[in-house]
Amino acid sequence: MATKSQNPETIVLHAGYRSDPTTTSVAVPIYQTTSYQFNSPDHAANLFALKEFGNIYTRIMNPTQAVLEERVAALEGGVAALALSSGQAASLFAVQNICHAGDNFVCSTDIYGGTWNLFANTMKTMGIECRFVDPADPENFRRATDAKTRCYYGETLPNPKLTVFPIAEVAKIGRSLGVPLIMDNTASPVLCQPIKHGAAIAMHSTTKYIGGHGTSIGGIIVDGGNFDWEKHADRFPMLNTPDPSYHGAVWTQAVKPIGPVAYIIKARVTLLRDVGAAMSPFNAFMFIQGLETLALRMRQHCQNGAAVAAWLAKHPKVAKVIYPGLMAGEAKRRADAYLKGGYGGLVGFELKGGKTAGRNFISKLGMFYHVANIGDARSLAIHPATTTHSQLTPAEQAKTGVTDGYVRLSVGIEHADDIIADLDQALAAV
Ligand code: PLP
Repeated sequence: MATKSQNPETIVLHAGYRSDPTTTSVAVPIYQTTSYQFNSPDHAANLFALKEFGNIYTRIMNPTQAVLEERVAALEGGVAALALSSGQAASLFAVQNICHAGDNFVCSTDIYGGTWNLFANTMKTMGIECRFVDPADPENFRRATDAKTRCYYGETLPNPKLTVFPIAEVAKIGRSLGVPLIMDNTASPVLCQPIKHGAAIAMHSTTKYIGGHGTSIGGIIVDGGNFDWEKHADRFPMLNTPDPSYHGAVWTQAVKPIGPVAYIIKARVTLLRDVGAAMSPFNAFMFIQGLETLALRMRQHCQNGAAVAAWLAKHPKVAKVIYPGLMAGEAKRRADAYLKGGYGGLVGFELKGGKTAGRNFISKLGMFYHVANIGDARSLAIHPATTTHSQLTPAEQAKTGVTDGYVRLSVGIEHADDIIADLDQALAAV
């Protein structure tokens, strides 16, 4: 029997799978298949008509993916999930599933740069308007909402600012207006369950902490099953009126017998069917391996992150440390309200020597990897002003929290003494 535990440490090992029904394999098999033999013509017809649920074709579902989906859904406190080929695909699908040309959505300014580009530029070409607002004041979301607003979007622990998003506050505003909140929880799995704070949907780039070993690109969307799409039928015609792409199915009605999963089933059987951004069975297997140690790794990331932040705060060449645990006022209150068990593995700091010092510091690191990634078991570093944020003007950089001397660390799970020793020798050289 798969677990009923609510504890992340147990969920990541046991939810959604006990052993393979045919081979009794304890490890989740990699079902490297494109298709599945139907039992009979009736069985095939029922599957296509959604009268019965089962495997049809790996572009739409796969048993290895299914275990990952069930496990991440349990971890996030949701009802079902959809694994996809990347975090970017997950962000796009999460919004596009309920937004079409002429609609808009309201998004936090504090989000990953790739998401920003996708929302501000690519989605604009689809006729979907993204309205960016500063999450420092949750009321900004209300002010940007109109009758065509289909969702709100935020990131739990956005970098480089590392200011935690006001999840319950924005979710509450949204619920009063019939607008669901979608949360990107990539940087804070285990530490935060946005759905428990009122978000309707959570998503991850599984590429980061869930994978944890820097081997595979993937994404996942989790349906909280806690948003009443029917009650707000005027706002969600895509879920409440006949879908011509699926012989007139009305999603809120069609899936009623199996639970509050209209949103995620529609994403699977229309968007994933049509766009084909499927996660490969092999990558799903890799993410299942990563997930098994996720809770343990997050604990170590948090401990090491705290040790590094405290050490940097005392260093004479460091002007400022950006770390949720060292923030004051409302930012600290939000960090404490939404992150449990630690403040994550991301630490930012500003070097007094500006851009030159930032570049030099990176070149002197020995153990840290210099990469555009976060969430690896290994420690990673980057100087955003000369890399990820170099295309922005200084004013735009400042808005995103990047200054000339800013260095972003994704603190790994090595021994804290070795992490600090590497930072120490690199700082001595700038
Ligand atoms: N969301 C966040 C917070 C990220 O950091 C990233 C990637 O860096 C993404 C989404 C996009 O994920 P992927 O690179 O898997 O497409």
